[in-house]
Amino acid sequence: MGKTRNCIACGMPMTRPEDFPGGDATKDYCVHCARPDGSMQSYGEKLDSMTGFMVKTQGLDPGAARKLAAGMMSRLPAWKDLSRNSP
Ligand SMILES: [Zn+2]
Repeated sequence: MGKTRNCIACGMPMTRPEDFPGGDATKDYCVHCARPDGSMQSYGEKLDSMTGFMVKTQGLDPGAARKLAAGMMSRLPAWKDLSRNSP
């Protein structure tokens, strides 16, 4: 108990119940990676939202942000296998 877990889809540390979708700490992904119904977002959905986030927060152009987002996601457990198949 008390060990920090990281979201498999975005890498965010999940330390509080409200970091989990619906407060369900058995989930491997965080509230930001969940759909409103509590299921995990797809690769495409997460790529879109990470791209949008970086455009907004870092002022990158969408093409550069998308490449950066894809690179980050390729290192996360949820997408590792996916990105190996589609370089
Ligand atoms: Zn996440």
